[in-house]
Amino acid sequence: MEGTIVIYPIMTIGHLVSIVELGKLINLHHHHRFSVTVIITEDQFVTPDVTAFLRRASETTSSITFHKLPTLSIKPSPNRSRAAVRGEIIGFNNPNLLHALQTISETSTVRAVIMDFFCAPASSVVSDLGIPIYYYVPAGATFLNFMLYLNTIHNQTTKRFKDLTTTKLNIPGLPPIPAPGIVPLMDRDEEGYPYFLEMSSSLPKSKGIIVNTFESLESIVIKAINDGLCVPEAPTPPIYTIGPLLDSPINQSVEGEKSENQTLSWLDAQPSQSVVFLCFGSRGVFSKAQVKEIAVGLEKSGQRFLWALRKPVSEDNNKHFSLEQGDPDLDALLPEGFLERTKDRGLVVKQWAPQVEVLSRKSVGGFVTHCGWNSVLETVCAGVPIVAWPLYAEQHFNKEVLVEQTKLAMPMEESEDGIVYAAEVEKRVRALMESDEGKVFRERMHKMKEEAMAAWSESGSSTISFTKLVDSWTN
Ligand code: UDP
Repeated sequence: MEGTIVIYPIMTIGHLVSIVELGKLINLHHHHRFSVTVIITEDQFVTPDVTAFLRRASETTSSITFHKLPTLSIKPSPNRSRAAVRGEIIGFNNPNLLHALQTISETSTVRAVIMDFFCAPASSVVSDLGIPIYYYVPAGATFLNFMLYLNTIHNQTTKRFKDLTTTKLNIPGLPPIPAPGIVPLMDRDEEGYPYFLEMSSSLPKSKGIIVNTFESLESIVIKAINDGLCVPEAPTPPIYTIGPLLDSPINQSVEGEKSENQTLSWLDAQPSQSVVFLCFGSRGVFSKAQVKEIAVGLEKSGQRFLWALRKPVSEDNNKHFSLEQGDPDLDALLPEGFLERTKDRGLVVKQWAPQVEVLSRKSVGGFVTHCGWNSVLETVCAGVPIVAWPLYAEQHFNKEVLVEQTKLAMPMEESEDGIVYAAEVEKRVRALMESDEGKVFRERMHKMKEEAMAAWSESGSSTISFTKLVDSWTN
């Protein structure tokens, strides 16, 4: 063994799964050249899916050590935004992280700490110990690009994004991005804003930035970063593109495994490429009114469909993020008679569908997705064409690049009141599933699937990037 690599994730399922995969890869490389320790924290963001995933990971991955930090005795200030609280919690954990690193260092040389870029407030703890920091970005290079450029935008304008109503942001390497509503959490009057700015200034100070993407998926964006255009004032550290890294999170639906099996059997009974799959991540929700519009649009489209539907939590058509678990009441939510009328060609599953397995089924011909980065990678790896319907976090950036730059997705257009009406759902679903344009998207996605497979081949771009990363720890 040549030392230990410590991984410091945040406890959010969309960030955690791929960073643990990275840990497994590092440990396997050159017959366990490095040992890997993943730091686990206990905080209010730990949801049941995180607990279940960590339990499975620790039971099935004996080669990785999971080191749990003590439960925090300090509580975050009440009534603060999620982002502000997250930043605060990371700061509270700094003494515990320091202690953990000192303990690990007693028996092994810590060669590097790979931390989720959301852990930027912990950077001084690591650098004060003289340990190199590498940031991990579980989102694509598209969002990394924006995060690197955020400091520059901050210095260019004093306005909030939501006030730049007619402006499109010109960010190197990205298509023009409509400013208002892009990432509401990141506006300058938001409590969490200083936390995001801190990430933006910390990223360039690291020894390297590891991104869960692959060269040909985001080539223009990656080139802009590598050319130093996103950090005009300072050198950009090496970018290591090591994706796609995927694993499946665990089903949290009440009906669990049984319903998964029924879903997959139903899919297996459908004709090839006939089913459109609708799924909006582990957190995506719609208002009841929006759910009805989707149902009407699907029914009118005449297409076969599989729809993973989470419980609405608000009447607000712009509220799309919820951590609440629980099955929706389908009879109350869907238009009267909808389930009966569509029973021969549609299936609505409560809360959760086994997405990776669904996308791998021959019968699935299209995917309406919120463009969470894991979902993007999963659909690329399955070669399933998409309609992009971004809801929260960095998904609007992903949509812009997928629609405007790589032309891998069709857009779902929202009306001004925040609703996507049934006619738009019908139009996009039909276009994806039965038009000549849809065929072109399918072919493009198929090619990208081949590129994804090639990225991890012996001389593929991700293999080369990963080898450079590992070598950087001993050189
Ligand atoms: N997922 C799933 N079934 C669902 C919803 C989500 O398997 O019904 C999985 C999906 O395959 C992906 C992850 O949950 O691996 C969602 O991650 P993503 O980055 O796409 O979105 P997030 O949930 O972080 O917004």
